Amino acid sequence: MKNNTKLKIHPKYQHMIDEVDYEGREYGYWVYLKPGYMSPDTGSHTIHEYRADEVIKALRNIQKCECEVCLRELNENIDQR
Ligand SMILES: [Zn+2]
Repeated sequence: MKNNTKLKIHPKYQHMIDEVDYEGREYGYWVYLKPGYMSPDTGSHTIHEYRADEVIKALRNIQKCECEVCLRELNENIDQR
């Protein structure tokens, strides 16, 4: 997990996260999830929140994802091994 912010991400979430970015007050926090996970809050593979506590809340809601995009990316990862 790449964390470009000062947010403390609990270890139990780190395997689900690819990257965490903060783009300032105007654009907020972006959390890019690894293939196989999604956020029901946004209905996508990215979490976007303006406040740190909202990011932490959204992390708790992360679910496994088996959409076409995720399955394809997971399969490609297996092929590379
Ligand atoms: Zn997916």
